[in-house]
Amino acid sequence: MVRPFASSADLDDKQQVLEVLAEGVYALTAEGDPNVGAIEGEDFLVCFEALATPVAAREWLARLREHTDKPIRYLVLSHYHAVRVLGASAFGARMIVAHEKTRELIAERGEQDWASEYARMPRLFKDPGSIPGLTWPTVTFDDRLTIHLGGDRGELVLRYCGRGHTEGDLVAWLPRRRIMFAGDLVESQAALYTGDAFHREWSSATLDRVAALGAETLVGGRGAVARGKEGVAAAIAQTRDFLTVMLREVGAAGSLKEAFERTHRALAPRYGSWPIFEHCLPFNVSRLWDELHGVERPRIWTAERDREVWDQLQS
Ligand SMILES: [Zn+2]
Repeated sequence: MVRPFASSADLDDKQQVLEVLAEGVYALTAEGDPNVGAIEGEDFLVCFEALATPVAAREWLARLREHTDKPIRYLVLSHYHAVRVLGASAFGARMIVAHEKTRELIAERGEQDWASEYARMPRLFKDPGSIPGLTWPTVTFDDRLTIHLGGDRGELVLRYCGRGHTEGDLVAWLPRRRIMFAGDLVESQAALYTGDAFHREWSSATLDRVAALGAETLVGGRGAVARGKEGVAAAIAQTRDFLTVMLREVGAAGSLKEAFERTHRALAPRYGSWPIFEHCLPFNVSRLWDELHGVERPRIWTAERDREVWDQLQS
């Protein structure tokens, strides 16, 4: 069987749902497409994630503007991936905030990642010509950064929890509301992309730190909003299980091809029908194979390398 490359044949629009999680806290989920959010300060807005293009971002902002017309002071980016950051220019934010590693990764591999992700998921790139260039964070931090929201709104804490989905993921945490925007560090009923990941740290210390914050509502990178302590625990457990199974199966394999087949067999019964499962798995297994064979930092994905790995494993 010949599978179409990555998500290149996935062309049906997804239903977007805007949810008000608490007063002034918004999430837009989209059936497994990248989630975004926004948090109101007293006289400004913090937006979380930028989508793949300015045109896609403007559709989200039009929906947000039905609820609030406050100016956007901060655009927070959870990590460097193109489908999260390239829509940034639409926000007109005074500051673009990310972890310092995210800025370094954009400098090191932002161009290649843009080409790679565009070929993998063309549907997300609405009017790709509207992207003015790479997105450069203007404020970066190492461990944590606190945004004081004003009035009695409390604070929004941006936290680095360790290496995980990438080298520089952050989570956005509202302690007073116990609401977390977790970026791609946690997925809820959506498959994981781990092609740029650090599986051993992500599945252990990093997820432990995410869980320790004690969220009662969690917006993952993709999939539905997780609600209640049990719902949040289930989303984190799903993410950890996906990684743990990958580590076990790839670790037991004698070749890359065998690693792919074993992992596919082990994950498919539980996760095979979830969004982007087939798309991600070859890239995931390739990176974990490298990680377990001493390649410290993820190799840069290029449009060419994507095709090679896909043809080797998924065809
Ligand atoms: Zn990502």
